[in-house]
Amino acid sequence: MEKQSKLNRRGFLKSSVIGATGIVVGQNVLGRTTKTNIPEEEKNEKIIYRTLGKTGIKLPIVNMGVMRADNPNLVKAALKKGIKHLDTAHGYQGGRNEEMLGKLLMDYPRDLYTIATKIHQPGLDRKTGLYSDEATEETFLNMFEISMKRLNLEYVDILFHHMPGSRESTLHEPTLNAMKKVKKSGKAKFLGVSTHNREPEMIQAAIDSGVYDVVLVAYNFKQDNVEEMNEAIDKAAKAGLGIIAMKTMAGGFYDKERQHPVNTKAALKWALQNPNVHTAIPGFTSFDHLEESFSIMENPELTNEEKEHIKKGESLVSLYCKGCRECVEQCTKTLPVPDLMRAYMYTYGYSNLEKAHQLLVSLDLPENPCTDCRECTVNCTSGFNVAEKIKDVSRLIEVPEDFIA
Ligand code: SF4
Ligand code: SF4
Repeated sequence: MEKQSKLNRRGFLKSSVIGATGIVVGQNVLGRTTKTNIPEEEKNEKIIYRTLGKTGIKLPIVNMGVMRADNPNLVKAALKKGIKHLDTAHGYQGGRNEEMLGKLLMDYPRDLYTIATKIHQPGLDRKTGLYSDEATEETFLNMFEISMKRLNLEYVDILFHHMPGSRESTLHEPTLNAMKKVKKSGKAKFLGVSTHNREPEMIQAAIDSGVYDVVLVAYNFKQDNVEEMNEAIDKAAKAGLGIIAMKTMAGGFYDKERQHPVNTKAALKWALQNPNVHTAIPGFTSFDHLEESFSIMENPELTNEEKEHIKKGESLVSLYCKGCRECVEQCTKTLPVPDLMRAYMYTYGYSNLEKAHQLLVSLDLPENPCTDCRECTVNCTSGFNVAEKIKDVSRLIEVPEDFIA
């Protein structure tokens, strides 16, 4: 493709806000060294613990989503501080995330930390949320074995079925059979499901399954179905499920230009005000962010200023797509709009071009989506101009993978 030769990573970034601001994920952690083993700093920190449902695992209310942290020193610093739970996935950074953890965790006693990995089955139709025949017991088990080799561990504490798209796929029998086998073998202590959309429906499916012990759920102040979410979470907690919150930062920024950040502490405190949320896993990319998130345990109550930020932020358009899926039927070309909005958030909110690129490539989009619609028929409930965002972010597909990783 002629365009490909012209548009590389630098080219994309130059024409986007990330290039303008010079933000590079993990940049400010380079060169920092930390000693591993026992987290000495824990003794001086105030740490609040909650128990992860029927798993009985006692965790600090703030843990670590490792997805965007490609520097082992940041993970070491988190463990040293007293963070206990590390959340990774088979697909993060093309497997390098699990490999990085596998190497560094060799220096730690196994009972010092808990770890979760997640397997996203192939063959998920993102429009219907259903699996094709491609998703089998075998595919899941093979991917899990690869993850275990990368992690170099005898077991993981939680194995997640990652991002099934519907109630039906949450209850997908071949996947559940594979997961039960893994648990029986002792290679996973507990089983869970993670969800980025239709949360109440998926949480109910997790309860009904009788298989899952934990749900990892998107939960933040920008969701417009908070009441429904709280009811679903309450039900899951009563059923004994452990609840882990993710996406608590609601995309990190209100704007593409990154001039208006979400107040990290306020957003995290908001999620943890719900006593049924047992822990949260913010995706630290810097020591500052780690310190800031960890410090909420000093005073987990929202201050008046933080309450004000949350109140104002609820009505502002941000980079966070609520995953309500109202747009899916409205798009004349049935584009997977929520996934495209997530790719946009990864790009501009998280500066995670690799993740955005992976997601975009997996969507099998038509060339130049949205350019030949005379008028966009989508009325997004979050007020997004989805056509503009799709045109913008889909340019990333043209950047060769080698220029991004
Ligand atoms: S309507 Fe808007 S908020 Fe809802 S899923 Fe679609 S893009 Fe996201
Ligand atoms: S402009 Fe894009 S999002 Fe809007 S209807 Fe057309 S293809 Fe769908």
